Amino acid sequence: MTYTEKDHKYKRYTVTSALPYANGPVHIGHLAGVYVPADVYVRYLRAQGEDVMFIGGSDEHGVPITIKARKEGCTPQDIVDRYHKIIKDSFAELGISFDIYSRTSCKEHHETAAAYFKKLYDEGKFVEKTSMQYYDEEAHQFLADRYITGTCPHCGNEHAYGDQCEACGTSLNATDLINPKSTLSGAKPVLRETKHWFLPLDQDEPWLRQWILEEHKGDWKTNVYGQCKSWIDAGLQPRAVTRDLEWGVKVPIEGADGKVLYVWFDAPIGYISFTKQLKGDDWERWWKDKDTKLVHFIGKDNIVFHCIIFPSMLHADGSYILPANVPANEFLNLEGDKISTSRNWAVWLHEYLKDFPGKQDVLRYTLCSNAPETKDNDFTWKDFQLKNNSELVAILGNFVNRTLVLTHKFYQGRVPACGALGETEQEVVREIATFPERIGRSIETYRFREALAEMMNLARLGNKYLTDTEPWKLVKSDPERTATVMNLSLQICANLAVLCAPFLPFTADKLHLMLNLPAKGWQDAGRADLLMEGHTIGTPELLFEQISDEAIQAQVDRLQATKEQNALNAWKPAEVKPAVTIDDFGRMDIRVATIMACSKVPKADKLLQFSLDDGTGTPRTIVSGIAKYYPEPEKLVGRQVCFIANFPPRKLKGVESQGMILSAEDKDGRLVLLTPSDVVTPGCNIG
Ligand SMILES: [Zn+2]
Repeated sequence: MTYTEKDHKYKRYTVTSALPYANGPVHIGHLAGVYVPADVYVRYLRAQGEDVMFIGGSDEHGVPITIKARKEGCTPQDIVDRYHKIIKDSFAELGISFDIYSRTSCKEHHETAAAYFKKLYDEGKFVEKTSMQYYDEEAHQFLADRYITGTCPHCGNEHAYGDQCEACGTSLNATDLINPKSTLSGAKPVLRETKHWFLPLDQDEPWLRQWILEEHKGDWKTNVYGQCKSWIDAGLQPRAVTRDLEWGVKVPIEGADGKVLYVWFDAPIGYISFTKQLKGDDWERWWKDKDTKLVHFIGKDNIVFHCIIFPSMLHADGSYILPANVPANEFLNLEGDKISTSRNWAVWLHEYLKDFPGKQDVLRYTLCSNAPETKDNDFTWKDFQLKNNSELVAILGNFVNRTLVLTHKFYQGRVPACGALGETEQEVVREIATFPERIGRSIETYRFREALAEMMNLARLGNKYLTDTEPWKLVKSDPERTATVMNLSLQICANLAVLCAPFLPFTADKLHLMLNLPAKGWQDAGRADLLMEGHTIGTPELLFEQISDEAIQAQVDRLQATKEQNALNAWKPAEVKPAVTIDDFGRMDIRVATIMACSKVPKADKLLQFSLDDGTGTPRTIVSGIAKYYPEPEKLVGRQVCFIANFPPRKLKGVESQGMILSAEDKDGRLVLLTPSDVVTPGCNIG
């Protein structure tokens, strides 16, 4: 445990994971960064017998959801209903063990968030500011930045948004745009006065500096601490907690029609609302008792909200505890590229569950062992296959299977007696005893990759023990020692059942069943007598199975198709080149010819050799790099093409090319020959 936490024995744990935004499903990046580590942590605490509450839910407000709804011609509620269900169901199927998974569009949350605002408002904790904002007189509403487009003052892009120009990347204010237009009605928006409430973060700087930069130095992860420090050092600014929008939690004061709470203000209050939903009147000790440890699991894009802004909100109220830790992770990339919802560059959880039924733990394992704890990491399907085939199957699955099959073969499924321990056995018993603490310490310090690797080391220990002692041979010469070896191997299996449970809950359940082992706590692990002599184990089954090259290739192919689709979507005609004169053009001698023969150039993948009738009576040879697009070149014979006749001859792969054949490059990079729309005399000019 870290130094501030080790001296404090908490009575209960409130663990939250970032609320996924309900305008799309959940992908592996979310899982590796937030939900898998959070679930490991929670399952471990429960195995320790701790009182834990694990809170999750969908974040369902904000402008992007309203924009998606407009695009699809439905209501924001339709959008969030759709994605909340997909997210909730797929989390449940992956075994993310929330005590409650709720949503911010529910009535209880609206009430809680509104009351939270009202209390701070009544106590004068906000600063009121009036500003000028764009208003759409036809749609009768103020416009969020994303609802305004216009010309970028920096680059002239006519489709810049009110907050950013995507062509040149400049951040903008809506009032910077030239010729602003409302995307709601197309009307020119007008500036109107509007009033909003701000959280004066600038006033929070002294205590935030003390609390984070002094008290949590060396305790919070360096990436989290570093980001907080740079925010605080840069100087905190007051932040608007309300905005002009219809979709969201209504601002509960008079004269605030058409205003809602900013999504960054309402979403974290969701953790509190959901606690009330779950615990009823008993909710307060989970948030207000100093013996409760509050931990937020988030991605790095959320650090400022959970380390600075939400704590400032809790501090402004005054009755809440602050997070003890915020173990934020970096990002997971996919096959070398940033995961992107808009480009569909992602592995979506609900699709994975469909494509790999029953393989929840394989994904949990891969993502946990590759969690971006200290830097961005990469997920590849090849690595996914490797981790399954050479770790889960070859180490963990293989060890358990060998042990259980031999137990059935030698002892009819009964645990044999453990005899006198030799030196090797004593070492094995000593080793087993160290694992629960080693794994636990890593989990408590949020080093989940290390914890998982330790768990696998126990399986490695078992595998090595079997390989070294070879009970399948030993049984003939020394049945007594064989019984001891098998007894200890079974004890290792029983320990694995307990210790793998936070990471691989489905596997742990199977293993418990196969060992006929009742549920054990973390404290029971480390012992070499979890299974008593004579205990009957269940039927062995394979814990994991190989994943084939074909299954992996199908996923790689799908991503490749996405990449190609994205390239097509991104295609634009090239910029027009600088002006030329008619004389410039006149110097080009472009003519039509008829193809007499066409074949591949030997030892050159890309090249085709054309023999052309150019009207001179002497065949003209031209070599062209379009072989890839014309796999049956002989079929081109008789077709007419256009070529430049006055290019100096040059040798390509030993063939002299006398000119250049013209082709068009399609948006996917495909080259297509240019042919006159009617047959003309070979050799005639183009101009
Ligand atoms: Zn621009």
